[in-house]
Amino acid sequence: MSEKQIYLDHSATTYIKPEVFNEMLPYLNTYYGNPSSIYAMSRVTEQAIDQARERVAKVLNTAKDEIYFTGGGSEADNWALKGVAFAHKNRGNHIITTKIEHHAILHTCEFLEKNGFQVTYLPVDSQGFINPDELKKAITDKTILVSVMFANNEIGTIEPISEIGKICRERNVLFHTDAVQVAGHVPIDVKALNIDLLSLAAHKFYGPKGVGVLYIRRGVKIDSLIHGGGQERGKRAGTENIAGIVGLGKALELSVSNMEEENRHLGFLRDKLINGLTQIPYTRLNGPAGDKRMTSNVNVCFEFIEGESMLLLLDSKGVAASSGSACTSGSLDPSHVLLAIGLPHEIAHGSLRLTLGSATTEQDIDYVLEVLPPIVQRLRDMSPLWKKFLQEEGKAQ
Ligand SMILES: *Cc1c(COP(=O)(O)O)cnc(C)c1O
Repeated sequence: MSEKQIYLDHSATTYIKPEVFNEMLPYLNTYYGNPSSIYAMSRVTEQAIDQARERVAKVLNTAKDEIYFTGGGSEADNWALKGVAFAHKNRGNHIITTKIEHHAILHTCEFLEKNGFQVTYLPVDSQGFINPDELKKAITDKTILVSVMFANNEIGTIEPISEIGKICRERNVLFHTDAVQVAGHVPIDVKALNIDLLSLAAHKFYGPKGVGVLYIRRGVKIDSLIHGGGQERGKRAGTENIAGIVGLGKALELSVSNMEEENRHLGFLRDKLINGLTQIPYTRLNGPAGDKRMTSNVNVCFEFIEGESMLLLLDSKGVAASSGSACTSGSLDPSHVLLAIGLPHEIAHGSLRLTLGSATTEQDIDYVLEVLPPIVQRLRDMSPLWKKFLQEEGKAQ
């Protein structure tokens, strides 16, 4: 391991903030009573869960009884889609989503297609935005659910959620959004945005892994995903992950309390990084610039380069980065998101995602801007495609 360690993969996961950790700790050793039992120690854990639920409800501008704790973001996504699909199958079998969703949505949709449902995958433009008019046209009288992510985890595009919510409400179709990337980073008001179901996960905002939330608007009919005991008002069985839930509540409250300041800081660093990286010739920014982009997200393609080799060289310099999402690394296919915004395979292969977080400093950005250009040059010097390109351009010595 290089001595220097710069973590720029916050969209894959974050560390747990000390304030969050400290609040979780007593629920891992001192207060371990099963919240469903009736003795005093259980009342302590029951109340801790209640407080966490209250904190989440407040942040989303909703009520406590619409917040359900899950085992993470993927579970919340699976539950929203399968739960709504099976509960509403007598009304219709059509679901609308997008081509750039996380695999927790896309692979769930593929599963539903094998079980009699029809799924429309909306295309996106070159910056990753869906077109609300295309959504309008895609809705039929068989449509039961629309699922569009709040912001994309690879290229940071923030979708027009307010317009989508309005369309779905007018057409009487349920609207789910995967808000795993934005919770704690962007204000979310489920009422104002007409959101019926929303997924979030604690480890994307400095809470623990393996715990998430599905917000389900009161009155929405949904089947259970996990059957068993009566926890979460009988909708999600299993003894509660008390420490995890406490950590989620604290982390969300903490993130929201310094959201504006953090976004100002990260937005500045993001733009400095983007400006620096796009000085490198034959480099393009993926996703939009400005306020429709997550302040934490930088994603660029360096032409004539293999993303994986770049990640290894960056790692040797102590920089932890990603070339797509954590879930697609290790596969040779280029990212489905980059293909959906229209990049050809060979360019999509040269992508680099750097996602910033609370502890990221300007020195970190300067360091990346110092070590990355020589890495790009070194890899291009080894690339037959680059040599061929230079010859064609008449630039070879
Ligand atoms: C991380 C992520 C998920 C999956 O969440 P887990 O907690 O890892 O299961 C789902 N959707 C998006 C957009 C994500 O970024």
